[in-house]
Amino acid sequence: MDDPIYTDYPPSLSPAQQEYLVTATKDWAILNGLTVRPNPATLPEGADPNRVLATNAPVTLFPSPFPRVCFEEAQALQTVYNELYAAITCNEEWLGKIIEDLIDVDDFVANLWKTHLAVQKEGYVQNLSLGLYRSDYMAHVTPNHAPTLKQVEFNTISSSFGGLSALVRSLHAELLTSPPGSPISYPPHPLLQSGVPPENTAVETLSGGLAAAHKAYGPSKSTPGLPLCVLFVVQEGERNVFDQYALSKRLTQFHKIPVFRLASNRILDQTTIPSSNPSRPLIYHPPHSPASAFEVTTVYLRAYYSPDEYKSGRDWEARIHMERSAAIKCPTVLNQLAGCKKIQQVLAEPTGPDHLSSFLSNIDPGVIARLRETFAPQYDLSAGGQGWELALNPETALKHVLKPQREGGGNNIYKSEIPGFLRSLPESDWKGWVLMELINPAANAENVALRNDGEVLRGNVISELGVYGTILWDNTGKVFHNEQGGWLLRTKGKEVNEGGVAAGFSSLDSVLLY
Ligand code: ADP
Ligand code: MG
Ligand code: MG
Repeated sequence: MDDPIYTDYPPSLSPAQQEYLVTATKDWAILNGLTVRPNPATLPEGADPNRVLATNAPVTLFPSPFPRVCFEEAQALQTVYNELYAAITCNEEWLGKIIEDLIDVDDFVANLWKTHLAVQKEGYVQNLSLGLYRSDYMAHVTPNHAPTLKQVEFNTISSSFGGLSALVRSLHAELLTSPPGSPISYPPHPLLQSGVPPENTAVETLSGGLAAAHKAYGPSKSTPGLPLCVLFVVQEGERNVFDQYALSKRLTQFHKIPVFRLASNRILDQTTIPSSNPSRPLIYHPPHSPASAFEVTTVYLRAYYSPDEYKSGRDWEARIHMERSAAIKCPTVLNQLAGCKKIQQVLAEPTGPDHLSSFLSNIDPGVIARLRETFAPQYDLSAGGQGWELALNPETALKHVLKPQREGGGNNIYKSEIPGFLRSLPESDWKGWVLMELINPAANAENVALRNDGEVLRGNVISELGVYGTILWDNTGKVFHNEQGGWLLRTKGKEVNEGGVAAGFSSLDSVLLY
């Protein structure tokens, strides 16, 4: 697309200006916690034995232009998307039918489903569920048309970067509003004169959801009663810790709720469910204070979304242990499964039952139609049909991406690699994947990225917008809290297929609306 808005954007930098801007950005990042732990594999042997180092998160030096209509539409639809995924999670029969078709080809999905069945058999003791979601989009461009909003995917587990993206917004806003001529201000450009990125309330929204769940849990179910807390379950060796601290800090400082962090491999050592208590409260025993104990109102998973995190049966035992407890899960196993790519493909089917209208019976049909407009074409690969044709033909494959039921980036197969990849699998396994048409984002914008090893890259980029939402509901479908707020822009080189900041493909960015 030749959008005049991109002409000469961003302004060119002399080597001295670029060095100044890079230095200012690195220092701002450390000063304000726009940081990640370094990858130990990239450090010299024996460096940082005590894990004290932090480095800037990968960020762009300039905000990226993004169409205002698309940004506003994504925000307008978020609470409806929240409701949709809550409603799907409540409909165990509908969800189960789709999931059961995956279990013979996908061990991870099978084990999650088994976890649900085991807890269902015993009986769930918690009716409430919490979702902290991020719906991801690109602004899709076709010749002679205004850009439209298309969804890349919907995340129901460990939706990350709310904390850091709010900081990138502040970084860019600060650079934009520095007094003209001051050393860290941007060189002049019409787009940079047009205002600052919109406010980003991701931290308030996401921690607001956790606080709503904490409150809705009610009083302690233990005898005698125990103090209540929220538990962040995190990956051992997590590098994106500062993003998580942005949420826990807000919970402790603003909502006055105690928060503990627990690595997933310590769950069975540090939490218990008293066998004598039919309410099954989840009790957390802080290692620094063995005499004290807290009752967990809400388990927030920033772990357990990927099969490689389940190293042994002990991890599945830990997952069942949390699931069967009285703590409100963010997310439940069922809500995690509702986020499968397969579900997104079924929702997008253009013919057959109108799932959206059934799940969103209280929503205006015009709004449902707008939500449907955000779907890109997606195809089932279970048995022949259009999906097979498009995927196996080398010409049509070029316009598609092949996705498995995985999260966290780095799992998809793109374009020319699709036919050969599929042929390397038995046909019976193809149904574990969905084929999705590639969204075509505007690609002639440039930006400059500062990677977390200090490397500076300049080139044509494409951007992916994420919008955050949170919803608290019970298993009858009653909604107690439903909010949207905050956003993420991730930007990558236009030749890069994958996305994902943690996976090393993209940089954090912010939006300049036009
Ligand atoms: P994950 O859950 O692993 O993040 P995604 O569906 O988000 O999986 O795919 C990873 C990345 O692949 C996205 O961030 C995006 O860059 C790219 N991608 C996925 N689907 C599409 C699509 N339909 N069009 C263009 N790019 C896509
Ligand atoms: Mg995802
Ligand atoms: Mg993604």
